[in-house]
Amino acid sequence: MKRILITGGAGFIGSHLCERLLSEGNEVISLDNYFTGAKSNIVHLLDNPYFELIRHDVTMPFFIEVDEIYNLACPASPIHYQYNGIKTIKTSVMGAINMLGLAKRIKAKILQASTSEVYGDPKIHPQPETYWGHVNPIGPRSCYDEGKRCAESLFINYHEQNNVRIKIARIFNTYGPRMHPNDGRVVSNFIVQALNGKNITIYGDGSQTRSFQYVDDLINGIIKLMETPDSITGPINVGNPDEFSIKELAEKVIEFTGSKSKITFEPLPTDDPTQRKPDISKAKELLKWEPKIKLEEGLVKTIEYFKKTLSL
Ligand code: NAD
Ligand code: UDP
Repeated sequence: MKRILITGGAGFIGSHLCERLLSEGNEVISLDNYFTGAKSNIVHLLDNPYFELIRHDVTMPFFIEVDEIYNLACPASPIHYQYNGIKTIKTSVMGAINMLGLAKRIKAKILQASTSEVYGDPKIHPQPETYWGHVNPIGPRSCYDEGKRCAESLFINYHEQNNVRIKIARIFNTYGPRMHPNDGRVVSNFIVQALNGKNITIYGDGSQTRSFQYVDDLINGIIKLMETPDSITGPINVGNPDEFSIKELAEKVIEFTGSKSKITFEPLPTDDPTQRKPDISKAKELLKWEPKIKLEEGLVKTIEYFKKTLSL
């Protein structure tokens, strides 16, 4: 049995990770300040004596004895990370420093939830890990993008200077049950709008693309990454290479919900990436991993979840 700390454990991805690692017989501690996460995401785990909740902000130092740390604490939806950009940068950067300092002190292995946003609005398509990215350092997304880029640099430096055992996962757009209904991300927005019979809000003309990964595939990928030999640090892309335009996504959501909602077009946010698709050759080779769940299958599961949550 390992003792595992998950920062951001009450969030969308964190709650699935807590659930999985507990089911595999580990002791799990969730650390969260509940900025975008919720106790309701993990309430079903509270009866498990091997699960603990800690209310804490990763920007403040924290001490605990664990074997592994998954550092997920950070708002991930553009509306949430732009709400207080300074706090987002502090969460990524000071959170990484605090968790890496802890990992160094207790000799724990640590995984960073990095992001495809380190590639910015990419000029290379699909994006391999060797691509340095195309990020606007002063734009509205920079608090998130540059915070995550700095965190990657901190991870590499702690590894090289202090031999901390690190793993960097560059996570691409992930969706599934327990996304917050008002989270603002495209999959949850479209499903909630469709189920409520409201207009589906496409930003721009809907030709921009994303590659959507179902949360169970992501959890498999990051656990496999954590279990790799110490020589494998990443960064490694963890995403589904099936690429869709946002308009195609809207049409699928309308079809699978059977909704009568109409599509409306709204202004495209500044610096919204025009295309995104992971090159997952490295993950296939080093993790023996690739996503299994097609968008259609994942959407059906996510729609079922939102129907229950919204009591429809
Ligand atoms: P989320 O917003 O649901 O979860 C983030 C969690 O971190 C929440 O529970 C929140 O309360 C907590 N948190 C935020 N700031 C904190 C702080 N200062 N101290 C302690 N806890 C704090 O988002 P998610 O989609 O579950 O994302 C989890 C991680 O994965 C994030 O680091 C995100 O950047 C990364 N990621 C997610 C995606 C995606 O598509 N979902 C893609 C790339 C990377
Ligand atoms: N988007 C949209 N309508 C919405 C929410 C998002 O058209 O209601 C678009 C958004 O402009 C972007 C894409 O969907 O092009 C993905 O947005 P999301 O916020 O989910 O993630 P990110 O931009 O970080 O990939």
